[in-house]
Amino acid sequence: MTGRVAIIGLGPGDDRYLTREACDALDAADTLFGYGPYLDRVPARDGQTRHGSDNREEGARAEAALRQAAQGASVAIVSGGDPGVFAMAASVCEAIATGPETWRALDIAVIPGITAMLAVAARAGAPLGHDFCALSLSDNLKPWELIERRLEAAASAGFVIALYNPVSRARPWQLAKALALLSRHLPDGTPVIFGRAVGRPDESVTVIPLASAEDIAADMATLIIVGSSETRVIARDGRSPLVYTPRAVEKVSA
Ligand code: SAH
Repeated sequence: MTGRVAIIGLGPGDDRYLTREACDALDAADTLFGYGPYLDRVPARDGQTRHGSDNREEGARAEAALRQAAQGASVAIVSGGDPGVFAMAASVCEAIATGPETWRALDIAVIPGITAMLAVAARAGAPLGHDFCALSLSDNLKPWELIERRLEAAASAGFVIALYNPVSRARPWQLAKALALLSRHLPDGTPVIFGRAVGRPDESVTVIPLASAEDIAADMATLIIVGSSETRVIARDGRSPLVYTPRAVEKVSA
């Protein structure tokens, strides 16, 4: 007897962003685990049970799913976007690394999804056309000093930077501080993209120069892409601008 754990990415929004593989894996599961609002996106199926939990209980959720799979069940754990990007796939691996030996015998499948960074980039044009990196601004799982060091290193090395988890009720000041820090390394006109609830009915995308970025409201459903000094904006009459980072860089800036 081996149980199965599928860790499934639902994509950023509605079911247009669900891959066929994710649909099949959802269908095959006896039990679904996940953060309540993500579970709500999955159509109900007869005979399938659901365990919704709070977003901060990722470790406990991973362990509960693994315990059930170890009894022979086929379980699915759902994440928004991609499950490997600041999400459940790493929590499941952490639980397996420290858990009972029997968990290593389980069939584990990670089913990818479209991560928020790619969905927002696609709306804006091609801001990730050259080298880029992704950072979570949340200091729940790492010290703020480390976030500052990484932001400075990324901006000064010329990476376009995708910022996940920019703001929450418990973290009101971090985004303004991060933008101020980036402003010390990047030109005032550097394009910044705020993509909110992309792929959902209330989606919005705003492109603004770095010097004015602090005027834009962000929340937990917002992903921010901060350009590099190479990132450009093509203004278009009656259409939203196209933001892109050219694929080639000729000079090495100091
Ligand atoms: N696993 C997810 C990321 C989880 S971290 C993924 O791959 O997308 C949660 C953060 O993702 C949010 O704070 C926000 O920054 C971003 N995010 C998730 N869905 C989003 C959406 N539809 N539009 C914009 N940003 C989103």
